[in-house]
Amino acid sequence: MKHPPRPAPTDRCAGGPEPDAPDGVEHRQIVYRVLFDRPATAQRLAAVAGACRFVWNEMLDQQAQLYDMARMCGAKPPAPTFFTLGKAFTQLRRVTPWLQAMPYAPVRYTLKYQADAWRRFFRGEAGRPRFKRRGRDSVTIPQDVRIRDGKLWFPKIGWLALRRRGGNPYPDAEPVQAVLKRVNGKWMATVCYAVAAPARPDDGTVTGVDMNVGQVAVSDGCRACIVHAPDSRRLEARVRRYQRRLARQRRGSRRRERTRRRLARTQRRIAQRRRNWQHHVSRSLAGGTVVVEALRTRAMTASARGTVVAPGRHVRQKAGLNRGILATGWGGLRTMLAYKAPRLIAVDPAHTSRTCAVCGHADAASRRSRASFECVACGHADHADLNAARNIRRRGLARLHGEGRSHSATPTTRETDRRLAA
Ligand SMILES: [Zn+2]
Repeated sequence: MKHPPRPAPTDRCAGGPEPDAPDGVEHRQIVYRVLFDRPATAQRLAAVAGACRFVWNEMLDQQAQLYDMARMCGAKPPAPTFFTLGKAFTQLRRVTPWLQAMPYAPVRYTLKYQADAWRRFFRGEAGRPRFKRRGRDSVTIPQDVRIRDGKLWFPKIGWLALRRRGGNPYPDAEPVQAVLKRVNGKWMATVCYAVAAPARPDDGTVTGVDMNVGQVAVSDGCRACIVHAPDSRRLEARVRRYQRRLARQRRGSRRRERTRRRLARTQRRIAQRRRNWQHHVSRSLAGGTVVVEALRTRAMTASARGTVVAPGRHVRQKAGLNRGILATGWGGLRTMLAYKAPRLIAVDPAHTSRTCAVCGHADAASRRSRASFECVACGHADHADLNAARNIRRRGLARLHGEGRSHSATPTTRETDRRLAA
């Protein structure tokens, strides 16, 4: 095999723990608009994206058949990896001449994402990988990213101009990976840079953060408060109105196109507002150690979905819960805390909301309602989320004392949220 798959250093850009990150180096993502010198260049990029989609769908078809066949025979379904998919890709490429004219690495790297998707499925963290449709195209340059004079080199296409208000904040940093995506008909490039990690002075505070739908509760030992997420109900109502209107309008009409643009703009505004809020909240919290609950996506989605053999009940309701959680932007906030705070600790989330922060008694009956907590053992009463934030902080403190505060090793709990970065 000409290009043996190897764990590219750039895989870290997709988020997740960074076990082998060299000390003092971090990854930052910058989004640029991609501009084309002529329409033909844009068409060629679209063709490459089309090849990625083709390869994804072909391989998914193969793997799905293998999976269904194994299930029918009662055998253990094969778990595809980037390596096995890469082998199949080599076969496919051999019999598909037009694929040979496409840049090898970006097209093949599509299968990295597919291998990840299958792995999440087998772990019960996500649904079955799905076929890709036209319109939401994405191509990754996995390695050897070259950027010069504000232009990005795309293999077999050429130099693509990058534009961003404020330019490149890391002009001297080394680009390690680039993902080109078509968003609302425009191509955007997300470039991941390896940058020198900035010094993060620790002010010695330890803050517990309980993230809930629409709000976060914060406790730093002396103060405790609840920070509400921005109220986007009016904008969300507008989104629904546009969506209804879009459904009525004739395909290909100019009015429909106008509605589509307005819908996209409103959705963008909601996302920007949420992001802005996350930046403010994470900045205000990031003076010292921040303690959050470890992600329980697995417990939440997997328990609902059940196993492949015994599918769970109430899957839709759980899915709705998870959607609501994602809507408040936990992932984004966690990612920002991970790079802004000198230290981020993720603690076991079990029973944080039903344990008394004063006496430590854990009882579901103490949780009187969504917002109120009243301990059945000692009578301590508090806002339920503030009580949870105090518990989270305490668990973080226990962890700190357990490993010794003067310990100089890189904190093992620094993490980036996979969902957001993907
Ligand atoms: Zn109590």
